[in-house]
This record gives sequence, C-alpha cells and structure tokens, in this order.
Amino acid sequence: MMPADLPDSAAFGATLTIDLDALISNWRLLGKRAGTEASAVVKADAYGIGIEPAVTALAKAGCKSFFVAHVSEAIRARKVAPDATIYVLNGLLPGAAETFAAHGLSPVLGSHEELLEWASFRQTGAQVRPAALHVDTAMNRLGLWPGEGLNLARERSGVIAAAGIGLVMSHFASSEVETDPANARQIAAFAEIAAALPEVPASLKNSSGHFLKDCPSYQLTRPGYALYGGNPTPGQPNPMKPVVGLEATIIQTREVEAGTQVGYNGRWTAKGKRKLATICLGYADGYPRNGSWTDTSTGGSVLIDGVSCPFVGSVSMDLIIIDVTDAPADAAKRGASVTLIGGPLDLETVGGGAKTIGYEILTSLGRRYQRRYIGG
Ligand SMILES: *Cc1c(COP(=O)(O)O)cnc(C)c1O
Repeated sequence: MMPADLPDSAAFGATLTIDLDALISNWRLLGKRAGTEASAVVKADAYGIGIEPAVTALAKAGCKSFFVAHVSEAIRARKVAPDATIYVLNGLLPGAAETFAAHGLSPVLGSHEELLEWASFRQTGAQVRPAALHVDTAMNRLGLWPGEGLNLARERSGVIAAAGIGLVMSHFASSEVETDPANARQIAAFAEIAAALPEVPASLKNSSGHFLKDCPSYQLTRPGYALYGGNPTPGQPNPMKPVVGLEATIIQTREVEAGTQVGYNGRWTAKGKRKLATICLGYADGYPRNGSWTDTSTGGSVLIDGVSCPFVGSVSMDLIIIDVTDAPADAAKRGASVTLIGGPLDLETVGGGAKTIGYEILTSLGRRYQRRYIGG
C-alpha cells in the first residue's frame, strides 16, 4: 500500500493505463466482423494487461470462451469467470486430467496419446467439460497431422467420440501476411477436417484471420493480439482501439557538448550540443534492451508534446536516457511525463524500434508500473 501522503506519480517511475472499455469494444468488433462468436485468448497474463481484469471485463460483456496456455493461467481465469469454457492450448500433460476435472477446464488435445489419456479418464466416470481437438495445418508445433485427424474423425465410434470433443481447431502460421500462399493451404486443409466432423463446432481465425479474404469464420474465433489493440493488418490502418498507454517521468535533464559519450560503455556519442533527459523505466520494466540507440544502431523513442525524442545509449535496468533537444523546454523538464506507448507510438512502432514485434512488447509489460485500469 502507498503511504497516504506520497503521490502515485512520485512512488512509481511509470504509469501503465489499460482501457478495459477499448478491450471490450475490440472484442465486439471482431465478433461482428466474423459474424460468429468470438472467444478471447488471454494467455500470458492476457498479453501482459492482467488476466483477472481482462477476463472479468470480457465475461461481463458476454464473452463465454477463453483460451490460455497453461493450467495455472486457466485456474486464475476460472476464479473470475465461473461459468466460462476455458481451453488450455498446451493440452494435457501426463497425469493432469484430475486437475482439469477439478477446475472444469478443457484441454486442447493435440496428439493421439493425449486423446487416449483423456478418453480413458472420461471412461472412469469423471465429470469433465468437452475438450478441443487441435489439428496442425502448417506450424509443426502442436496438433495432429491433418491425415491423422481425418482418419480418427472417420472412425465414428473411435477415440474422438470417446474423448468428448466439443471443438476442433487449427492455428494460422502467417495470417498477418495476407498474400502468403500458406493461408489458402491451411484454409483448405482445415475445411476437410471440419467437414469430417460436421457435428463438432470449429475454430480457425486468430486476430489477423478475421481480416483474411475467403476464410470461413466457423462457430468460434480466437483473437488475442487485436483485442489488446495490436494491428491485425500490419502496413494498413489499425482497425482496433488502443488499449495500453505507457507514460514515464523525467527525473533529470542536462546539456552535453559534442563528443560526449552517454550511458553504459559510452555506446552513443553526441554529434553536437544536446539536451538530454533521464526517465525512470528500463529493461527491468520489460522495455527491451534492444531498444538501445547507439552510434551504430537505431532504437526506441518517446513522445513529448507530440515531438519524437530518441533514446540515446544503452537502455539501463531502471533508466533510459533520451535526447529532448527538439522538445519544448517546459515539457521536457524534471517531473514532466513522456509517452512510451500511445498515439503514433503504437505497439508495432515500439516493437520495431526494439527490433521485435508488438506482441513481445505487450507480453513483457513490467510488473513494476503503476497500473491504472479504466472502464470495464
Ligand atoms: C496465441 C494464439 C491465438 C491468438 O493469436 P493472435 O495472433 O494473438 O490473435 C489463437 N490460437 C492459438 C492456438 C494461439 O496459440
């Protein structure tokens, strides 16, 4: 708890604002666009925004199905969504069936072995919810081969029936690249599987899948990134509302002369007289060290009053140095706040500046920020 006399902005280096109304509105937009039910993928702490607030808000808005990666995440989601269907994408680890039953969770079964283990658990009379079946149409990661899936699906009274499958699904490998020919191949391979299991609801679309042409929506979609404001159509305008904003405070400013080396190992050198500021967040807050801006590589930036101010030198554990020479002096001073995520600094831009993708920026969001939830 905060001492009553210490303002929040002085107690924390940075503030993460999470707009739960925007989250709900993104979920509704995707469901409308698909013309079918949308679930919510809330793995990795709801892509960093917090699984409990995200699931609570989405369940209240009418979302009935959630996907997580691990059982531990599913148990957290279950606490705030007592009636929802909660699928565990990583499936059934040996001996885990009892835990699935105890919390009413649904494994996403991805191999013949998992199907057999779940089917024999059901045969003991255990009360379980329907499981999902994962067919791998491109990734070579998790799921049955399409041929294996088709063979099992055609055995009418076989292991698929015994496992109590309530959903059949597959996952796109490149749906954000509309022109990738893998998309059409995956759509066709999955159509065959879905047709072989006509009584089982099916699910194919991830976030970007909602924007692919000629892709059926089936009965359920599985958006993640776009729910949290990520752009599912990279290179085109983002149809989603921003959910996450990140602001940090300037602690110090200073002027340096040409030739001054800045930060750990002096990896950035001032080319002229510059005004620098130090802000209080760093790689320990999940801001990638690959966002460092050195003499030989570009990196991240912040916005001050709409002016882009680049990082200079290495991103430190708790601090980043920025070049505020071009920012208005009264907006670039001790105690002032700067934007790290927000407006034109969207998730894709921030990801690019740190040589990674927006997904990784989101899922790395630090635990040490002051977190402000609005709406919901
Ligand atoms: C993570 C994941 C999703 C969500 O993908 P986004 O690109 O974030 O929308 C959907 N399905 C599976 C199987 C996943 O692993």
